[in-house]
Amino acid sequence: MIRRAADDTGQRRSRRWSAFVACAAGLLTAAAGVAATASAPAAAAASCSNGYVALTYDDGPNPSNTNNLLNALRQAGVRATLFNIGQNAASNPSLVAAERAAGMWIGNHSYTHPHMLNLSQSQMSSELSRTQSAIQNGGGGTPQLFRPPYGETNGTLQSAASALGLRTITWDVDSQDWNGASTAQIVQAAGRLTNGQSILMHDQYATTIAAIPQIVSGLNSRGLCAGMISPSTGRAVAPDGTSNPPPTDPTTPPPGGGSCTATLSAGQQFGDRFNLNVAVSGTSSWTVTLALNGGQSVQNSWNASVSGTTGTVTARPNGAGNNFGVTIMANGNWTWPAASCRAG
Ligand SMILES: [Zn+2]
Repeated sequence: MIRRAADDTGQRRSRRWSAFVACAAGLLTAAAGVAATASAPAAAAASCSNGYVALTYDDGPNPSNTNNLLNALRQAGVRATLFNIGQNAASNPSLVAAERAAGMWIGNHSYTHPHMLNLSQSQMSSELSRTQSAIQNGGGGTPQLFRPPYGETNGTLQSAASALGLRTITWDVDSQDWNGASTAQIVQAAGRLTNGQSILMHDQYATTIAAIPQIVSGLNSRGLCAGMISPSTGRAVAPDGTSNPPPTDPTTPPPGGGSCTATLSAGQQFGDRFNLNVAVSGTSSWTVTLALNGGQSVQNSWNASVSGTTGTVTARPNGAGNNFGVTIMANGNWTWPAASCRAG
């Protein structure tokens, strides 16, 4: 019954058995179930003036922990996105229903949590469609979001997901809970979230659940609230799906109508994708245009609001300053996109 501790990063794959066993021992003393009839939690009494972020929990549902997770989220007055593994949903349909009853958004996290890029396209589609069915059968609705296990994705997988109406979502901040992070470290990771971003956490760790009250109070003290992930933009928005308020920064002067420069530098490179860092100078109100090369698509971005995924994409400030980044799926084309900047 102790399932492997699944990590979702493409960078570290080590299994931390000792950490997981320690967590499981703690859970035996944790308190009981969630009221299945409860309605969505009340909105937290916070201003949300700086926007919304998404709390996400992968790999459930899980009989030993999901009720504890739901209780903690409800007590904190927040809603989260839960990326369910299909076979777990099929084995625990009542927990899927409990997630929905607690006001959570339920996403697809594959059926067996494989390395999806090792699969044929039809196997990918099977992983995705069986999970859609398992979640629907549990009363969880029809997911619109797919988080690939280990964050591993490519154009073929995104097409398979799109064919089922699923937008592929990775994350902006990795809590490292899968890697043995302490509750304090998980809280600290959440402290890096900015408007529109999401944080990767997991269903099965007591450390993760213990972090929820501090995460929520920390967000609220920064004018941020927990929201949903928009299936159309992949960014966190208000729980009702409306877009974020524009960030306001009274210390930032209005654009002077001058020019600006966007400078690219290399970030981490993976087998199928690469990160680019973009530094903007000249103004704090800018629009950066990236002209992607053939086959390339934007898989992820951080510290800017990025519109579009292929062809010409634009990035605007989201309150996180003048340095942002993008992850570009290469699809065999490793040439950096051309960047241009205009003020305003
Ligand atoms: Zn996972």
